[in-house]
Amino acid sequence: MKKILNFIGGNFREAKTGDFIEITEPATGQPYAILPRSGKEDVDEAVVSAESAFEEWKRTSLSERAGYLRKIGDLIEEQLEELSVSESIDNGKPLKLARSVDIPRAAANFRFFADAITQFSSESHEMPDEAINYTLRQPIGTVACISPWNLPLYLFSWKIAPALAAGNCVVGKPSEVTPMTAYLLSQIVMDSGLPPGVLNIVHGLGGEVGQELISHRGVKAVSFTGGTETGKKIASVVAPQFKKMSLELGGKNPTLIFADCNYEKTLSAVLKSAFANQGQICLCGSRILIEDKIYDKFKKDFVERAGKLVVGDPVLPDTQLGAVVSKDHMNKILGHIKTAEKEGGKVLCGGQRIKVDGRCKKGYFIAPTVIEGLSQECSTNQDEIFGPVVTIAPFSSDKEALEMANGTSYGLATSIWTQNLSRAHKLSAELDFGIIWVNCWLLRDLRTPFGGMKNSGMGREGGLEALRFFTEPKNVCIKY
Ligand code: NAD
Repeated sequence: MKKILNFIGGNFREAKTGDFIEITEPATGQPYAILPRSGKEDVDEAVVSAESAFEEWKRTSLSERAGYLRKIGDLIEEQLEELSVSESIDNGKPLKLARSVDIPRAAANFRFFADAITQFSSESHEMPDEAINYTLRQPIGTVACISPWNLPLYLFSWKIAPALAAGNCVVGKPSEVTPMTAYLLSQIVMDSGLPPGVLNIVHGLGGEVGQELISHRGVKAVSFTGGTETGKKIASVVAPQFKKMSLELGGKNPTLIFADCNYEKTLSAVLKSAFANQGQICLCGSRILIEDKIYDKFKKDFVERAGKLVVGDPVLPDTQLGAVVSKDHMNKILGHIKTAEKEGGKVLCGGQRIKVDGRCKKGYFIAPTVIEGLSQECSTNQDEIFGPVVTIAPFSSDKEALEMANGTSYGLATSIWTQNLSRAHKLSAELDFGIIWVNCWLLRDLRTPFGGMKNSGMGREGGLEALRFFTEPKNVCIKY
């Protein structure tokens, strides 16, 4: 059994209570590590460490801060293989995905914000009556960064890097489902020489250590990525304390495919957007809307390609889909498929758990599943499933496609597949989603605002948006 520890004030610690939680490798169904079941006392200690490091950290020059972040990025890259293997074991994702996407992106997050902070500036406003205003943007203090299990190190670093770059001290809380790479990050951070207390990482259950963290009076801002229901709970604690809050929540993303699309490219990309990471990316397109003129052909080709995707042991090079993250999550996804059938949906492929031979025989694998025949109003098309399950439906006009796409309480991401430029512009302006991809999916420029509308969240991450979130603006007005 591997043992994960908290990282507080530059030291590795068990939870004060000495309690641990056991975690299971999703691909094998076997327990493989324990992590601290932290609580109030651990949070108190982490916040005190962060507060005592803050006075010096906020005065550290931008280039020095950038240097630490760059060093962390370099160390992540040096340990790419070990981190990728750990991410794949922890999460069930194909090793090649962790190696090509998750871990390189974690390194890129640190490097990106190392550069971004050196280019960050604030505004000045001159007045006609011989006065000038300028805006100071100062670090907030101790901030909480709470992340989910689907892209563990990728999303944890996406929060931590801008928070540190902006001069804050951080108490991070990774998902208890996938804590391993956050633990390995704490070792990297120690090796980078980052002053003790600037970054602290506490492990444990969301309802316990997470709740203590967001409620703590010493925590001045909360950056959260996770489910919409958890987001609501967090908002109900954080909002009355008037702390700054950024919420990146769930999605039910539509994919709009028009008859004039570049067919082959669209087919391959939509397959990826449906099933990458076993459909466990908040940006995955789970409602596939297809223009009626090509509906039958696209359906046939898509179902055929989905049926051929290789589901299996995440370490094997040919594996395209690994295990879903846990037994509970697998059962939840299978429950959604049953509901879809009860709602009148026809399962065109998949629909069941897959048994993988050998070391993975007890793993949590689900076949890529495509369902048709459902209205956009039913729960299958309204609730986030977060697994390898998509629905397909035809539309006959741009207006109908728009109505179907917008007919959800979520507003995270969408993709449009068409060669008609004016249609793409028009729809982009009318779709109620924070991220709109045209003829691409998951193409990310880290300078752009990232986040959702409606029940998909509040605020934006990425580029200057993140640096603005992690700083407090002060207006200084000077009369000449
Ligand atoms: P989750 O909401 O269950 O947990 C997320 C994190 O919050 C975990 O670290 C958890 O321990 C913590 N947490 C839970 N309850 C808490 C509480 N009361 N107080 C403080 N912290 C608490 O989400 P999950 O199941 O880990 O992740 C899947 C969800 O995340 C999906 O809904 C997915 O769409 C969403 N997600 C969104 C984005 C985005 O950028 N919008 C990105 C990735 C995942």
